[in-house]
Amino acid sequence: MSLQSICIFCGASTGTNPIYREAAIAMGQTLAANGIRLIYGGGAVGLMGVVADAAMTAGGEVIGIIPRSLKESEIGHTGLTRLEVVDGMHARKARMAELSDAFIALPGGLGTLEELFEVWTWGQLGYHSKPLGLLDTNQFYSKLSHFLDHLVEEGFVKVKYRAMLQRSDSPRDLLQLLNAWQPSIHSRWENSQ
Ligand code: AMP
Repeated sequence: MSLQSICIFCGASTGTNPIYREAAIAMGQTLAANGIRLIYGGGAVGLMGVVADAAMTAGGEVIGIIPRSLKESEIGHTGLTRLEVVDGMHARKARMAELSDAFIALPGGLGTLEELFEVWTWGQLGYHSKPLGLLDTNQFYSKLSHFLDHLVEEGFVKVKYRAMLQRSDSPRDLLQLLNAWQPSIHSRWENSQ
């Protein structure tokens, strides 16, 4: 699989530790260096703005998708390859998914988690077979990962759906993991693990 476009979910804040901003810069630069188009929420604030700026500065292509209602609060980025303004949050998420071959969550808050989990459940339902990744900067996602393993151990998530979500603290290694990922041909309604 060769990834051409990757959707990044990340905070509309930068977090308190500057390491998160550095990671977003590295992620944007790595996408651009690999000729991968960045699809994201279109904002200029927080890690969203940082990853987009880094990709654009490094010569990459960046497409932002922003709901009309958030254009003011998240300050629609005016320096992108393209900014699409859509009617609402559902349209934004559907459009980001449509344009992307894979999804990566950088550190973020509730919106980031919601976007990650929604697109993951779409994969579980067989709406798409695209891999997901966590950029585990500063072990940001290690506790969540342990909890997700717990869901498998307790019989609420199948191993093959857990395996859709890769994790690395290195943007380059994460891209390799996503590239190497093979989709399962089964839907969740079959019994196989
Ligand atoms: P956050 O991680 O909370 O900083 O939010 C990051 C991104 O998620 C931003 O693009 C927000 O617009 C988006 N977001 C915020 N709240 C929601 C929500 N309830 N559902 C989906 N996305 C959201």
